[in-house]
Amino acid sequence: MRDTTQELERWLHAGGKLAGQISIACADDGWELRHTDDAERGDLAAFSKWEDARSLANFDDAGSFRPLKTAPNLRHGWRLVLRDAHSVRLALDYFYPAMLGVWLAHSRGELVPVEFHETLGRQTGMYRITQKLTHEQAQRLIAKQCPSNGGCLKTILWQISKGIPVSLLPPEKFRADATPADALPLLCHEACNILVAAARKMVKEETPAP
Ligand code: SF4
Repeated sequence: MRDTTQELERWLHAGGKLAGQISIACADDGWELRHTDDAERGDLAAFSKWEDARSLANFDDAGSFRPLKTAPNLRHGWRLVLRDAHSVRLALDYFYPAMLGVWLAHSRGELVPVEFHETLGRQTGMYRITQKLTHEQAQRLIAKQCPSNGGCLKTILWQISKGIPVSLLPPEKFRADATPADALPLLCHEACNILVAAARKMVKEETPAP
């Protein structure tokens, strides 16, 4: 935990200023976080506790729950001023859960991506049916669920199966090194449960009845 805060602090002092849809700036009394679209706004609601990030992250502008925190639908209209990097780290864990740790593991060369079909192969119970997902279905599914414009901001590090990359999304979607130096990489090293649930729905809908 201490390492994560130290690495975050180092990154901030080196000019890091973006995490997903959040811009982070040095303020008189610590660090200020706000939506990147709100850079020029002077009418933002003020928050000052890292715990406030939880409610800010949970609902979009329409008040709907955000099951996927890396979806590009972070709500607008707030500024969160935090006194130190430790508080920024805790807040970022609400906004983008686990992303700091994943980034650090990746930068140390310790992050091991898991192929999509390996993830599906581990499913049990009502999700075991996802093991019937074909490669063609997987391509369509990922193209629908994961695109950065409307789906998810993460960079995908995994393949569908060994030697079978995702082919229906732009190349930048798979390049961690395409993240600007002042932005915190949001990395997907294993398919999330939302994609697995969508795989189940696709298999059920597209498998002919016996
Ligand atoms: S599988 Fe990864 S990239 Fe796709 S929606 Fe889930 S977290 Fe985002």
